[in-house]
Amino acid sequence: MIAVRWKRAARAMLVLSALTALPSAGLTSSGRVALTFDDLPVFGKFESAADGAEVTDRLLAGMTRHRWKVTGFVNEVQLEAADRPQRIALLQQWLDAGMDLGNHTFSHLSLNTTPVDAYIADVARGELVTSPLLAAEGRRERWFRYPYLETGTTVAERATFEHWLRSRRYRVAPVTMENSDWQFSAPYDDAVERGDARGAAAIKRSYLAFTRRIVGWYRLAGRALFGRQPAFVFLLHASRLNAASLEGLAGILRAEGLRVVSLDAGMRDPAYRTPDRYVGRDGNEWLERWSSTLHRDLPFESIPEVPSAIAASDMRLEFKEDPRAVSPLGGDIPLTP
Ligand SMILES: [Zn+2]
Repeated sequence: MIAVRWKRAARAMLVLSALTALPSAGLTSSGRVALTFDDLPVFGKFESAADGAEVTDRLLAGMTRHRWKVTGFVNEVQLEAADRPQRIALLQQWLDAGMDLGNHTFSHLSLNTTPVDAYIADVARGELVTSPLLAAEGRRERWFRYPYLETGTTVAERATFEHWLRSRRYRVAPVTMENSDWQFSAPYDDAVERGDARGAAAIKRSYLAFTRRIVGWYRLAGRALFGRQPAFVFLLHASRLNAASLEGLAGILRAEGLRVVSLDAGMRDPAYRTPDRYVGRDGNEWLERWSSTLHRDLPFESIPEVPSAIAASDMRLEFKEDPRAVSPLGGDIPLTP
């Protein structure tokens, strides 16, 4: 994904002047989007369950207000703390609010860098809490989301893993819309932590402005591939930033004519029967994967780019946190201080 982003950055340099003129507003509206939130219970800095409760409460209150049914993808490694019961209670809150939960591996591993047996073991470990929570309500854990969107570097690896997934009756949850929310998230958390309310508000404004443009771009890209607008599956993270931005996000989806539907409903769109034959290191989203299957180009010449100050700030903060850090969507990024 990161390599792709840099490729996109180079392209975006050429078309800066075109960015304000994305014609998305002119497209007719009858679109649908399924919302998915990764890295539950809480993405980003999460010192205690009490800290996480604030984010969870706010996210779920906003979704309930809008009657959204979304799917959250859990990394159960986050439950490994002294306040484990309270952390598990955060997941229960998602179910109580009518949301679905899926598996995002136990420890947020990449299939590109993990032997397939170890990867399978990690995914199996990632359902030990979530599956029983769902079962207690007569439900079943059915969705899997690849961390970093990295699906392995060989056909054999991916086939072995996805055969195992099917044997456990999981389906892969693809991604056909994303807004790089993870890059805005660390600078936002940092501003909040420093008590810099103006800085946090500016990052949120920048995030929503970028989201508006990238959602418009994905609508164009969907049409370029299918000649119509597919139902999208939107990747977001269970972050403090999104908790604070839910009204803004709802306004953007409304303005773009996108109605929120469940992941099940979105996935019934025949677009999701398009084969994905991508094999390689990039954690590409599925429109890009299908663009090679279908031999149709995506309109990369007009893709908006994350503001460079945000991207730089995110990298700086991640490096400060962990000099071996990886970005949530970009496993193989060579970080330099
Ligand atoms: Zn993730």
